This record gives sequence, structure tokens and C-alpha cells, in this order.
Amino acid sequence: MASLDGPLQTELRDQALALGATYVGVADLAPVRDFVTAQGGEFLGDYRFGVSVGIVLSDAVVDQLYQHVNRDIARTYFHHIYTVVAGMLDRTAATLAFAIERAGYRALPVPASGPYNEERMTGLISHKLAAHLSGNGWIGRNCLLVTREHGPRVRWVTVLTDAPLTSTGGARSSGDECKDCTLCVDLCPAQAFTGVPFNPAEDVEVRFHRGECRAYLGQRGKAYGASACGLCVYVCPHGWSAKRKSDGQRTAPEVLRRQLTGVRRVFEASA
Ligand code: SF4
Ligand code: SF4
Repeated sequence: MASLDGPLQTELRDQALALGATYVGVADLAPVRDFVTAQGGEFLGDYRFGVSVGIVLSDAVVDQLYQHVNRDIARTYFHHIYTVVAGMLDRTAATLAFAIERAGYRALPVPASGPYNEERMTGLISHKLAAHLSGNGWIGRNCLLVTREHGPRVRWVTVLTDAPLTSTGGARSSGDECKDCTLCVDLCPAQAFTGVPFNPAEDVEVRFHRGECRAYLGQRGKAYGASACGLCVYVCPHGWSAKRKSDGQRTAPEVLRRQLTGVRRVFEASA
């Protein structure tokens, strides 16, 4: 977790941690202002900083996702990320926003999930980008924010503010550490990832064919009422729990490939 200095930043960090956060950081959004306003609207351009907060997902929930074609596993994951963790994040963001306002500044708690642009598969802003700029990880080949300690098993929220905070982005490196790994690219059942590394200057479509993922999630939603997959969260070795890391059978890449080739066949047969 990046360090936060100054009385207001310290108060924000302490409040976020008390509400269940594991990651807290501050992103300087000035260099990406055009990107932020193009995605969410010009009204977001008044805020120089984003307080980025991350909550780690339950390993017990995520570790089951290689079986996400099971209705109960899919529904449990869907509920966990969109109701439980998103609710915790929204409450945390509102609490931090109120604290910033009490200190005399403006603060906008951006919703953790919706409102959501279904076509572009984007929210009001990119929480991943704010988390990346706050020094908490890199954008992986799975187009998710990947942390060193929990991989992509973290959900994020951002509080935009004009308070004069200090960016934590330089506090630690957040360079691409996917290196030679291509597990998420190889195992996505919809083959939605191209494997091209993150470059903020390029459109996300260069790295991620959203339509393919959307079609797969739509198929899952039709089958189970829960548009859940999460294999790109599950497979990333950076997020493997201590138990899985010590379990050679379940973590070996060839075992994962075997498990998930079966999932892809199910998808292709029913597409
Ligand atoms: S959610 Fe599933 S289908 Fe969508 S990109 Fe991730 S692994 Fe692929
Ligand atoms: S699975 Fe591998 S390539 Fe994909 S995000 Fe994780 S480290 Fe990067």
C-alpha cells in the first residue's frame, strides 16, 4: 500500500482502512485529464486528484471460478463483487468524500460499479487507471489492475477531489510486471484479450475485444441470471492465495489450461 502523508491524507487512509480497505493511494489525474473527461464528462475535469481505495476479494469465492459455469458459483461471485464489495466501496467513498468536504474542499465519490456504459463496458471513470496512477499496481494483459500482493483480486473505487493532496504514484514502481506470462490471454473462454501490453495512448480495443467478453457474459447471464465469469481474475498467478501457491496441482499452468479448455468448449458448443 502506498504511503499517505499530511493530516487530511492520514485521516482518509485511516478511515478507509477501518472500513475494510487494503489499498489506499492518491493519483494525480492532471496528466490524464482529457482521458477522464472524454470517458465521464467535462464536469470531472475540475478534480485534480483521485483518492483510490481497493478492497480485496474473498479467496474462497474467487478460487472457485474455474467452475464458473456452475450456477451457484457464478451467482455467489456476482453477489460478492456487485453487491457486497461494491457496497463496501461506495460506503467508503462517501465517508471519505464527507471528510474532505468537512475540511473545506470538493469531493465526488464515483460509484464503484454503476452507472455503467454497457456498450463500452466502462464506468464514469476508470478506477483501474486511478489505482495505477496512485502506485498500487499495473494494468495487466487482462486489462485489470494487478497488484503485487493480491493480483487482480481487488475491486476499486475513486473519490475525485480538488483538495491539495500529494500523489502517491511515485512512491513505488507500478510498471508492467506480467513479463512472459500469458495465462489470462490463453485461458479467456471468449478469447477477448490480444496480449498487447497496456499503453494509455492506445484505445482499449487494441488490448481487449469487449464485444467478445460481453457475448460470453450475456450467454452466462441468460443461462443463470448472473453475468459472471471472472476467469481473468482467477488465473492470474499474482493473485493466487497462499494455499493455492503451495498447492502445485491446482496452480500449475498446464492444469489450469486443461481445466479451462473444457470451459471454452462448452462456450463454443453453445454459441
Ligand atoms: S470475464 Fe471471462 S470472458 Fe470476459 S475477459 Fe475475463 S476471462 Fe474473458
Ligand atoms: S495472468 Fe499473467 S499476463 Fe495476465 S495479468 Fe496476470 S501476470 Fe499478467
